[in-house]
Amino acid sequence: MRDIVGELEARVRELRRENAFLPIAVVVPSHLLGAWLAPRLFADTGHLAVGFLLLPELAWRVAEGRALAQGRGPVPENVDLALVLAAATDAAQPAETPRYLKEAVEKAGFGPALLRTLQDLGGCGLGPEDLERLAPGSADAERLRLLARTGRGFGERLDKARLLGRPAIYRLAATALPSPAVGGIVLLGFDDPPPVAAEFLAALRGSHPFAFVPEAGPLALAPRHDQRRRAFLERLDVPAAAEEPRAPGSSLQRLQQRLFERRPGTPTGGETPLDATVHVLAAAGEAMEAVEIARLVQQAVGEGLRPGQVAVLLRDPARYAAPLASAFERAALPAFFVEGEPRVDPAAQGLGLLLGLVGRDLERAAVMELLTTARVPWESLLGKDAEISPSRWDRLSAQAGIVSGLHAWRARIAEARKRREERGFADDRDLRLYDSLLRLVERLDRDLAALPAEGGWDDFLGATLGLLDAWIDRGRLVRERLERVLGPLGRFAPAPTREAFLARVRELLATQVYREGSIEDDRVLVSSIDGARGLSFRVVFVPGLVERAFPTVARPDPLLLDEEREALGPGLRTKRDAQEEERLLFARAVRAAGERLVLSFPRFDTGSGRERVPSSFLLQAVEAAMGRRVAAAELLGLASPGETGLGRPHPREPDAAIDRIERDLAAVATGGAGAARHLLDADGFVAASIALERAAWEPRLTPFDGLVDLGGDEAAASRLAPGGRRSSATEVQTLAGCPYRHLLDRGFRLEPWEEPERVFQLDALSFGSLYHTVAQRLFTWLRDAGLLPVERARLAQIEERLRAIVDEAAGELVAEGKILNEALLAPAKGAIRSALSELLQREADAEDGFVPAAFEQRFEGVEVPLGDGRTISFAGLIDRADLASRPKKSVRVVDYKTGKPQWKDGEQFRGGRELQLAIYNRAAAKLFEKTAVSEALYYYATPGGRYAQKGCPASPEVDETLVRVLRTLDETARAGVFAPVADSCDFCDFQAICGRTREARAGRKKGDPRLAAFLKLREIP
Ligand code: SF4
Repeated sequence: MRDIVGELEARVRELRRENAFLPIAVVVPSHLLGAWLAPRLFADTGHLAVGFLLLPELAWRVAEGRALAQGRGPVPENVDLALVLAAATDAAQPAETPRYLKEAVEKAGFGPALLRTLQDLGGCGLGPEDLERLAPGSADAERLRLLARTGRGFGERLDKARLLGRPAIYRLAATALPSPAVGGIVLLGFDDPPPVAAEFLAALRGSHPFAFVPEAGPLALAPRHDQRRRAFLERLDVPAAAEEPRAPGSSLQRLQQRLFERRPGTPTGGETPLDATVHVLAAAGEAMEAVEIARLVQQAVGEGLRPGQVAVLLRDPARYAAPLASAFERAALPAFFVEGEPRVDPAAQGLGLLLGLVGRDLERAAVMELLTTARVPWESLLGKDAEISPSRWDRLSAQAGIVSGLHAWRARIAEARKRREERGFADDRDLRLYDSLLRLVERLDRDLAALPAEGGWDDFLGATLGLLDAWIDRGRLVRERLERVLGPLGRFAPAPTREAFLARVRELLATQVYREGSIEDDRVLVSSIDGARGLSFRVVFVPGLVERAFPTVARPDPLLLDEEREALGPGLRTKRDAQEEERLLFARAVRAAGERLVLSFPRFDTGSGRERVPSSFLLQAVEAAMGRRVAAAELLGLASPGETGLGRPHPREPDAAIDRIERDLAAVATGGAGAARHLLDADGFVAASIALERAAWEPRLTPFDGLVDLGGDEAAASRLAPGGRRSSATEVQTLAGCPYRHLLDRGFRLEPWEEPERVFQLDALSFGSLYHTVAQRLFTWLRDAGLLPVERARLAQIEERLRAIVDEAAGELVAEGKILNEALLAPAKGAIRSALSELLQREADAEDGFVPAAFEQRFEGVEVPLGDGRTISFAGLIDRADLASRPKKSVRVVDYKTGKPQWKDGEQFRGGRELQLAIYNRAAAKLFEKTAVSEALYYYATPGGRYAQKGCPASPEVDETLVRVLRTLDETARAGVFAPVADSCDFCDFQAICGRTREARAGRKKGDPRLAAFLKLREIP
């Protein structure tokens, strides 16, 4: 491995030969290299007055005095982008600018691309006048003119803001030499800087003690780069690094010496197989590639290597950072992600949610997402005695039916609070929660309003930071970043719209990353290749070696085409330079390996399932290492598949596992007797899930099927069985439909989560409820007005009243916020009017002698003795009771239905599921004691229901069947048998719990004797 520290120490000694205290500035290509070198340089004695700087930092140090004397400063991060965008917008104004360019200026991504192009030009000392000179000969002259106008506008804006771009700083620095701000210079590894930087370095070379430590390696990798490099070195009058001697060595040495060297047909000599210094790995996808890398690192660390001696060098850190972070965490390996770890910063996430509420209407779902997921400093917002429970707030606000709007929050919380108060609980926590929630939402509304609709960067930023400080805990990192990036824009950039400001903040929050550790910690280094430039490691991994990823597809600059770049000057880079840059990157990565290099690639694109083509770089690396041509098929054969594969996310041997999950999976997969015994011992979930799986296949009911051992617990039995207590027709029908549903509903009190939402159309349930309200009010009015029985002659008058009642009831729905506005109710109102109008006509024509007499009649204490000493006491409401006086005094119950009748011939109890009408007959007998009950009926009183009626006679046979069904239901519940019978699931809210195989599973349990009596009910027609 190259001794870069030794070389650097030698140069420093040379420069200090005459002055031992000469301050030395070591110009490094990355801060990381500087941080690594600092403690190693003269490690025995320590060093004095040696600093490490990037080249732009050195240039500013030299230029600073003159710049400040002129009242100028360097352009801050992001301000250049804002200025260039403003300049481009102005430059696109002239009428001759083609439409496609005007549109391009508006597009995201245009600004950064434009800035890069202008920086390229500035780095080569080229300006707007050069572009204008070139324009007349171009097929797309207007593009070049737009670029020239933008460049000029950008320069003017920089001037006006008294800012200096990087090229201007280099030029100014070159005029300020020699400089008292620096002593001796050691230039480390820079061999192809842009021309203005090269000018500055050449001037430094002539004015200060100067030394150069060139980047190592053969020069034939990239001809254009090499040409510039030679010219640069000649200009500095320093020799190029000597070619490293070629001695037969390891595969790694051969690879490093001969990479990209061989021409087709040229023998490279000395054919050797790959030894252990070069390893090729082909994992199934990127995630598995990361896991295999972690496994190899773990093994190496197990053999004595320190994590800090390993690096993973990435062409595309954004693509690999997440899988590598996950794999290293699983393998318990400490890692230092130079470009940051892709971990979500909770404060950034919280602020994102908070800003998502700006300009909105306090939508409940969005407010609750903020309150339930962000780290909110509750105490400072609400005081230390406030009741706090985000999850309960979520439930309470949903139950209160809040959709959005401060008015709705206030009104609905007040209503819900009042209802709760009426229940008279002592020390009611929910009341305190309503109070704290309302205070919170009111404060949120006020604070959000503090973000102005218009203003400058400073106004928006100040308000955003105010929101951050008030609402988000531990937001220091986010605050610092927003201040650093957006702060300078207030001074230099034109005012944004609020949307543009928020979009920029969202962008910053989305890219907020964590960086934990440093180069000095003993951690595996994960870095972009350039980020680790100059560093060496004992083991280096280079993942992602597939075509189009490494090398990437080089694309020409669409704003300044390659031929235009070549016409403007030799310093401007083109697509060919970008292609060369890929080779140089790969060469730098492989040269960073001191003892072992692992080159890896994912065999499949796990998103599309397509096979990936190994990179040509990988092929050439293997050829260089082996000293001969290698066919693509042979390369695949040379690649180790790693321990995992598609369909096998674990190694074959448990000992090779990186974590417990892999070890357990491998242990189970070996199939050895007792290999996975520990899972049952240590983890209750595994045992329970195996028991569940077995129980599903047993023909008998088990506790997994809703078999509840009540163990003689009367209290539990009384809650679940209807006998001996008050019940309702709905409850016993639920139990009759499915005992398991009854257990979930009444036993576990499970409720479907209903998110309140803006209603644009009435659903069937709300339509039915509106219909019932209107019918009840209409018939009550008819009765009170003495208009019953209905007569045809009065229909016109009644219709008028019907219209008014429909309007009134619909208006109430709107006022309650159950639908957005009354206009949306027009179809439902029309349908209800015409349905009831038809019903009235039929009432007028009816000759059955029944006259509607009572409406929405409540009943209580309707006792049904079960014949075993128990009684069920029913309570409920009947829609309507009609009385007839001929042939004898009788009553019938009418229950309105707004759906369609689904009865088969001869059906009455529908297998025990339909009990309501029989219970209504009992209720009528109690309500109208001296009147004979004739029947209870469902009246499908809409055109859709064809005004059909389904009656249930109040006969002794029906009543006897009712009692038999109720007794069976009571006994089933009392025995603790709550099986999911799965024959009436259509409108059940618990389908997700029972799963799609519920019917097959229920079918297997049908033979259980404990279910026999219940299933016998299904035979009742
Ligand atoms: S989904 Fe079917 S089986 Fe399950 S609880 Fe509901 S009705 Fe019963």
